[in-house]
Amino acid sequence: QRLTGAGADDAERVQEAALRPKGLAEFVGQPQVRDQLSLVLDAAKVRGKAPDHVLLSGPPGLGKTTLAMIIAADMGSQIRVTSGPAVQHAGDLAAILSSLEEGEVLFIDEIHRVARAAEEMLYVAMEDFRVDVIVGKGPGATAIPLDLPPFTLVGATTRSGLLPAPLRDRFGFTGHLDFYSIEDLQTVLTRSARMLGIEATPGGLGEIAGRSRGTPRIANRLLRRVRDWAQVRGRGIVDLEAAKAALLVYEVDERGLDRLDRSVLSALCRRFGGGPVGLNTLAVSVGEEPDTVGEVAEPFLVREGLLSRTPRGRIATVEGWRHLGLTPPDTIPT
Ligand code: ATP
Repeated sequence: QRLTGAGADDAERVQEAALRPKGLAEFVGQPQVRDQLSLVLDAAKVRGKAPDHVLLSGPPGLGKTTLAMIIAADMGSQIRVTSGPAVQHAGDLAAILSSLEEGEVLFIDEIHRVARAAEEMLYVAMEDFRVDVIVGKGPGATAIPLDLPPFTLVGATTRSGLLPAPLRDRFGFTGHLDFYSIEDLQTVLTRSARMLGIEATPGGLGEIAGRSRGTPRIANRLLRRVRDWAQVRGRGIVDLEAAKAALLVYEVDERGLDRLDRSVLSALCRRFGGGPVGLNTLAVSVGEEPDTVGEVAEPFLVREGLLSRTPRGRIATVEGWRHLGLTPPDTIPT
């Protein structure tokens, strides 16, 4: 398991769920999305109707699932959670849709992975609140239309550009979540430390915030690892010393790059002379899935100005070379 990756074991997941903000007021940062969403929700309440479908996009761990749950809680509705990879056949989707109750929130994580065969059904359900249930097979098959109660679809995707336009157009509101500032992450961490009963100093939390890749999920996870260090080798307090020592053990550098980020950058510079190189080639050379490199490591490296995407492939920037302690060739643009 990668320390800063999307995967987590069950115990971590339980703790993560416990730290989830329950309402928009508790949701730290992302002022624009929060403001826009609160308008959508308030307007729905005034009209007494289910809010428009909502699409949330942004890198993993920035709070898409949390926001979906907040939407349901705010409307006083139930939430049904599924994900794109779980919807492989139109029948999977028909089963979920036909069991929805009025006003319910259907959350589809990784909605860009919903199978093509189910997409058409999703369009009709979103627009007309109807699902055509196919009965029988072959030429004798008939479609029986079934009316659905009004519901709100909340879709989450790491890249809204991956969604087919007809699907994107059916969302009434799209919120784009961006990486968090260090100050916002420090607020997230202060809240988490309080909730978990962890004694911490602002210096310790600030150090963790600065190395969390702009991501609350990572911040919370690093906080738990630093607490481990503090309890076993330190004074039991999450302070600057504990943060520095623990993050050294876990190979998270001062800028927040973890092992995968560094190996991608390092392969790019050392094996491919700084690029340009295609995403798939780069992924193979570090032994990872192209999706993991493209959706987890790359957006962060781009944001940090260490890597850039060009039409011919990925290239390391001057800063990327320097971060690895290497001298950049004088042919790359700054
Ligand atoms: P994925 O798409 O990988 O599921 P996500 O974007 O849905 O990721 P969440 O599961 O919602 O991310 O958030 C991860 C964790 O980060 C949550 O447990 C929550 O505690 C914390 N978190 C996320 N956003 C915020 C926030 N704005 N304020 C406080 N905590 C947050």
